[in-house]
Parts: sequence; C-alpha cells; structure tokens
Amino acid sequence: MIAPPRDVTEENRTLVTWYHRVKRDLPWRAEPLPYRVWISEIMLQQTRVDQMLGYYERFMNRFPDVVSLAAAPVDDVLKNWEGLGYYSRARNLHQTAKHIVHQLGGRFPETYATLLPLKGIGPYTAAAISSICFGEQKGVVDGNVIRVAARFLGIEKDVTKPDVKAEIQVWADALAGGGNPGDVNQALMELGATVCTPREPVCDRCPLKPGCIARRNNMTGRLPFKPKKAKVPHKTELALLYFPKDGGSVWMEQRPPEGFLGGLWKFPTAAVETRDAAGTILEKLAPGRLSGLEPVVKHAYSHFKISVYPVLLHGVTPALEAGCWVPIADLDTLALDKVHRRIADRLRHG
Ligand code: SF4
Repeated sequence: MIAPPRDVTEENRTLVTWYHRVKRDLPWRAEPLPYRVWISEIMLQQTRVDQMLGYYERFMNRFPDVVSLAAAPVDDVLKNWEGLGYYSRARNLHQTAKHIVHQLGGRFPETYATLLPLKGIGPYTAAAISSICFGEQKGVVDGNVIRVAARFLGIEKDVTKPDVKAEIQVWADALAGGGNPGDVNQALMELGATVCTPREPVCDRCPLKPGCIARRNNMTGRLPFKPKKAKVPHKTELALLYFPKDGGSVWMEQRPPEGFLGGLWKFPTAAVETRDAAGTILEKLAPGRLSGLEPVVKHAYSHFKISVYPVLLHGVTPALEAGCWVPIADLDTLALDKVHRRIADRLRHG
C-alpha cells in the first residue's frame, strides 16, 4: 500500500538551495527550452552527462530546433546519433518531431498529460519537460532518483516492483508540489548523479544527510535493493566483408527500419554456434576464397553479448537480395552500430 505524502517542505527547501549552489553549467540549463530539455533527457537515458555532452552539441548544431529535426531524413538523424546506442530513441525523436511540426503546428505540448502520448516520451521525460520548462508540479523518477529515495527513505523492498516505484513517485510528486518543481527535480537528478552515486555515496556533501535513513543505519551499500539479473546470453556472428574483383568497395546492407538497431547499416552477417563452426558456412559461401578470420570484435548490449569475427571475401558477389556496393572511403557517411563501425574503421584506417 502506498503511504500518504509526508511533509516534505524542509526537504524541498534544502534541495533547491543546494541545487542553486552546486548545479553544473550544462548547455540546456542556461535557456531551458522544451526542445533542448527533451533532447538532453533522451540522450541522458543510459548515458552519463560527461559522455553525452559532445553528442548533444553535435546534434544541436545539426538540428537546432524541432523544425530542422522533423525535416531531416531519418538516415541523417541516425548518423548524428551514432555512438549513443539505443537507436530506437533517435527514431522516436524523429517521429515525434514530425508529429509536433505537422500535427501540432510546431507547438511543443506543455503539460505532463499532453506530453505523455508522444512517441518515446515516458513518465520520466514528460515530468522533466513539464516541470523544468513549464513549472508543472510533477516529480521525476528515474534510476538516480530511485537510488536517492531508496536510501533517504530507507526503502528495503525491491525497487524494480511497480508498487515500490509508485511509492517513490508519491514522494517525488510531494517534493515537486512544494514549489520550484523544475529546480527540485533537477536537484534530485543532480544529487543522484554526483553525490548519491551507486558505489560510494559522498554523504558528507549531501544536503539530505541529516534525515537519511540509510546513512544513519549504515545501509547505503545495500540500498537500493534489486534482485540479481539473469546472466545475459552470448552470441557469435561472422561479419561477411565482400569485396569486388577490383577492390575499393564493400557490400553493405541496411537493417529494417523498426526493431533492434533499426535503420542502421551493417556488413552482411551469419550467426554461428562457435568460432570453430564458421569453417563449414564459409566454405559454402565462398569456396576457396576465404582469406581468414580477422581479430574478433566484442561488444555488450543491454540484453546480450556478442563476438563478431570479420571475414574477408575477395572477388565474391554476394547472393543477397538487399544491399549495395559502398566505396570504402564512404563508410564514414553511413550510420553504423558500434561493432560494425569498429570493423569499418579497421577497413578505412587499417
Ligand atoms: S546521505 Fe548519503 S545515502 Fe543518504 S541520500 Fe545523501 S548521499 Fe545518499
């Protein structure tokens, strides 16, 4: 059962004062326009501020407003997202920009309720935009805020459960309802990112220290409680690098627009059980033409790990329906995921 909101007046005041004193100078904070805050919040999902700043600047230079984003081809958006991963976020941004421009007359929705139906905007992003840009009293709850809340309130239950998240949402809403919702929300995000960090919270620098239950009871190391994740599966693939007789190009194909890494380009691939099972497949694909397996490229996605062995196939035209020859010098212009970018960089730069 969700407890009724506590009196959080003091916590609200403390957080806002602290935030004004320590907040980082970030590009979307100087002038928190909804477009800028939206892009920053979507980029910050799964990515730390210091890692995303360069991507943010590059994206803003290319697409400075919702009109320019809506008018761009999706390939251009994906190319400017390259390196951030989770490419469905970029495709959703693009679709939502088009919706805002073509269906809403270019006017950004201003409330939590009208932001929430937009593609790619969940409760967290809707609360962030509506509170920071329009002063709506709605609390943000993401991984950082869950960590702060679990420790501060001493929540020992599994924080991945919906009822526990709802309990934290009640606390965050009460805090936002105490005034300055945009600042108090950003204070919580900032606190989770810089002070109440996952491994070693710096409680001596924390404005919530006096009332924090985890600190008082020496529980910061075991809160928030999350059940252990199941082991992620491992896949093995061959990346088939087909070169024409005269060299200079390589065969590339584009993934379907929807789904995992949708819309990105790749070398043709073949799944194999293990590296040792590759020989039979390759002998069928290009008998006598295989010039050996290149060093493996390994990568961990959120839901599986992968080892990809690039294979060089010279003078072979692939028996594939989709795809085209791409000059090796032009590989930099295509949007590729991390694994295929690393292979392309080896081809381009040795
Ligand atoms: S006192 Fe420590 S554990 Fe508690 S909220 Fe602050 S940083 Fe986190």
